[in-house]
This record gives sequence, C-alpha cells and structure tokens, in this order.
Amino acid sequence: MDINKSQVIRGANSDFVFVIGLEVHAQVKSKSKLFSSASTEFGAEPNSNVSFVDAGMPGMLPVVNSFCIEQAVKTGLGINAEINLTSRFDRKNYFYPDLPQGYQISQLYEPIVGKGTISIQTEEKLPKEVGIERIHLEQDAGKSIHDMDPSTSFVDLNRTGIALMEIVSKPEINSPFEAVEYIKKLRLIMRYLETCDGNMQEGSLRADVNVSVCEINKFQSFIKTGDFGLLGTRCEIKNMNSLKFIQQAINFEARRQIKLLETGKEVAQETRLYDPNKNETRPLRSKEDAHDYRYFPCPDLLNIELEREWVNKIKDDLPELPDQKYLRFINDLNITPYDSEVIIAEKSTAEFFEAIATNTDGKIAANLLINELFGRLNKDNLSFKDNPTTVEQMRELINLIQTDEISSKGAKEIFDHIWNFGGNPTELVDKLGLRQVQDTSLIEQIVNDVIKENPAQVNKVKSNPKLIGWFVGQVMKKSEGKADPKIINQIVNEKLN
Ligand code: ADP
Ligand code: MG
Repeated sequence: MDINKSQVIRGANSDFVFVIGLEVHAQVKSKSKLFSSASTEFGAEPNSNVSFVDAGMPGMLPVVNSFCIEQAVKTGLGINAEINLTSRFDRKNYFYPDLPQGYQISQLYEPIVGKGTISIQTEEKLPKEVGIERIHLEQDAGKSIHDMDPSTSFVDLNRTGIALMEIVSKPEINSPFEAVEYIKKLRLIMRYLETCDGNMQEGSLRADVNVSVCEINKFQSFIKTGDFGLLGTRCEIKNMNSLKFIQQAINFEARRQIKLLETGKEVAQETRLYDPNKNETRPLRSKEDAHDYRYFPCPDLLNIELEREWVNKIKDDLPELPDQKYLRFINDLNITPYDSEVIIAEKSTAEFFEAIATNTDGKIAANLLINELFGRLNKDNLSFKDNPTTVEQMRELINLIQTDEISSKGAKEIFDHIWNFGGNPTELVDKLGLRQVQDTSLIEQIVNDVIKENPAQVNKVKSNPKLIGWFVGQVMKKSEGKADPKIINQIVNEKLN
C-alpha cells in the first residue's frame, strides 16, 4: 500500500495520515422489532408501536425475530464476511429514560457476523479494500424529546427494540473522502440486499466516527508491520447521520489532534459530539467516565444456532450486488465506467437501464437515461420512482436513434413530448416531423446549392479547413434540420476536400 495525497494532512512541521474507523448502525429492514411483534413503521403516532416487551414490563420475555437474523446473515454475506453459526445475545446495562428495560440486548462476545471487506475507491480513483471487523445485532433505544415543552421532556418508545446491525470497520479508512465512499458503498449493498433502507435523514443509518492521526513516518512503519499499536489515540464522534457533516467533522477533528501533538500535548481518548453550526467537535465524555456496562449473557435468550445449509441457501439466493453489476454493465452492455457508476447507484435505475439496454444499444441507452431522464428528474426535483416513461417507450426511442431515423436532437424532442404528454415514439417521429432525411441524392442536391451560392466561402475553405463546419451548418439549415448530419458531413467533405 502506498500513501496517497488525499490521505495526508499537513501539519506545521510534518505530515500526518488520517486514520478512521467507523461503527455504522443500520436499522434492519423488517416489519416487526427484534424481540417483539410491534411494528417498526417510521413516523407513527408516538408510543403507538410499543409492546409489553419493548416497554420493559416485568415478566415479559423476548422472542427472537428470525427474519432479522436472516437479514443480518444476508448483509454479512453481501460483504464477503464469515457467518458465525453460533452467536449469542448479551445484556448491556445502563440507565436512560428511553431505555425502559434498563439494559440493551446486544452481542458483545459472539457476534453473528465476523470479518469481511468492502471495496471502495480512493479520491485518486484507486481501488481499495476496507476490512470489516464484525457485525452484531442489537436493539435500538427510544427517543427522548426535549424541545416540545419548555419544562417537560417526553419519551417516545416507538423506536425501542427495533433491530440494528452494528457494522464495525477496521481503522483502515484514510481520508474523509474514503469515509464517505465506505458508507455509500455499504448503504448501496444493503439497499441491493433490501436489508436496510439506508435513509440517513430518518436515522436508519448513522455512524460513530473514530478518528486519529498518525505521523507519516510512523504510518510507513505501520504499513510495513501492520502493528496497530503504532497508530495514534482516537476520539469517537458519536451519532452522525449526514455524509457532509461526517466529512467536516473528520477534517476538524484531525486538525485539532495535530495541533495538540505539535504543541507537545497528548490526545485524550474520549467521546465527542460534532456541532455543525460551529463546525467543531466538543467533548461529551472521557474514557475515565466510560460506563461499566456489566455485560453478561442474556438469560432470557438461547444461543442462535444456524445451519450451514441454511446459510448456503441464502448465499445462493443473493441478488447481484453493485460491484458485480458495475462490471457486467461495462463488459456486456458496453458503457463507460463513469456511466456504469451513475447507473448502479440505485437498484431501480440499474434494473430500468438493463431492461432498456438489453439487445438495443448500451451507449445510446446510457446517454438517454443519464442526460435526458436523470437530467429531467433532477431539474424537476423528482426521484426515479416518479419516472413517467416506460421501458417500451425508451426501447423504441433507442431503436429510432440507432437506425438513424431521428437525430439526437429529434430524440430530445420526442423524449420531451413523452415526458410531458406520453405517447408512442414511432408515431411521434412523423407527428412531430422529425424523420431524418437520409436520401443521399437529396442531400447532395442541397450541398451543391450551398456551394453554388457561396463561392467566396468555398475559396476560404482551401486555406481554412475549419470552415467546413460552416457548410455543414448551412446544409442542415436548408434541410430544416432534417438531414442526417453523418451524411451531410460525408458529402461536404467529399466535395470540398
Ligand atoms: P472499542 O471496543 O473500545 O470500541 P474497537 O476496537 O471496537 O474499540 O474499535 C472501535 C472502532 O474504533 C472501530 O471501528 C475501529 O476501527 C476504530 N479504531 C480503533 N483504533 C483506532 C485508531 N487508532 N484510530 C481510528 N480509529 C480506530
Ligand atoms: Mg465501540
């Protein structure tokens, strides 16, 4: 591994490398909670989705939701991770108003998923693998609400007991850019797997961001030896749910730590909060104040024992994942890496693209999708589910372009018409008068006319070949924009060169 420019942060006297590890909390996509049958619906009336188990009523017993287990296993397989056939739930004890049980059921010692990897690109577009340490399942807590009343706080337990996957990376992320890429890729994989909706605004995906800095020479030794002891002391920035703020927080935090180190001070291991208004991190609690959670195996639950065949069956049934799709689109549908990246960024757009590009023309399909359809959706502030065009319409349009029946300008007009009023592209060609003239003799006639009418320009072309474009333009104009530009070009070149 080499150190890339984007991974380095300049100090006053020497250079440092960002060292980042992420603990991502991803809400499991499931209709009911991890240990109760209460609904997980977002935005419901406060405290309407709370079972006796979630409310921590005495004598209530948790029952594992096997679908959540399956979702965690799927996610593990999606990041090429080891699945642990035996795992176990532990109690993490602490007191908080939004935690009625007085403990959170989690997996400290024996998580369901072990080591895996996620591939990302560095800012320099170099491929990179980030190691995942583990994924464990745990319950989410409720929500305390302090801003509804000047003197009273409220608690909403709807979120209490919803299943979370905590996905813990190794400290192998080395720039704010990579941190964002990592989260995006992880989110994309989970969206393809339908194990987490990845909605950061609704809090379905949030991250604790661990940051330290390492003097560049030390980091060189770290690369050689892999000795994590060479890394600096980290701070943990809690509960971030915006990619932009994550980037800003890492930059601020790294600079803060460098300043400390350069003035001979030490970085204290602590938990901090990011304040986006001031663009700074502030201490929340130090290591000394860290809770003693008195973890112990949850006596209400048996170990989870999975069968190898069951795991293998899930593995065989996994959908195609974004990385595979990305490569297949480049290789089989003949599009550029850039276009492929844009198209696979959502499962629904990738599926739509595949439907319109198979057995037509991948490049034309990608252009139409990205420049026309995405362009239009963006402009009108719509998302892909509002797409008014059908696969049939797009396939027809692609065929019309491919067979030169319409020009790219004509295609835009037809697309525009479909966007606004719908319609059948083949019928629209004549209805809108967009059929390209491909009759060579007709076009040649126009070229001859233009040449005859402009003797001065013909002379100039000899010394300035760039003027050929002017002739092409004139011919196009005379044909009322209907002549096939490829044919005009060919004839004009033949006559004037
Ligand atoms: P703990 O159990 O104390 O929370 P972990 O080893 O589980 O510590 O690490 C928690 C997170 O901190 C992981 O995502 C890990 O990658 C990250 N981390 C560990 N060491 C460092 C470091 N020196 N700099 C940045 N992140 C780190
Ligand atoms: Mg931790």
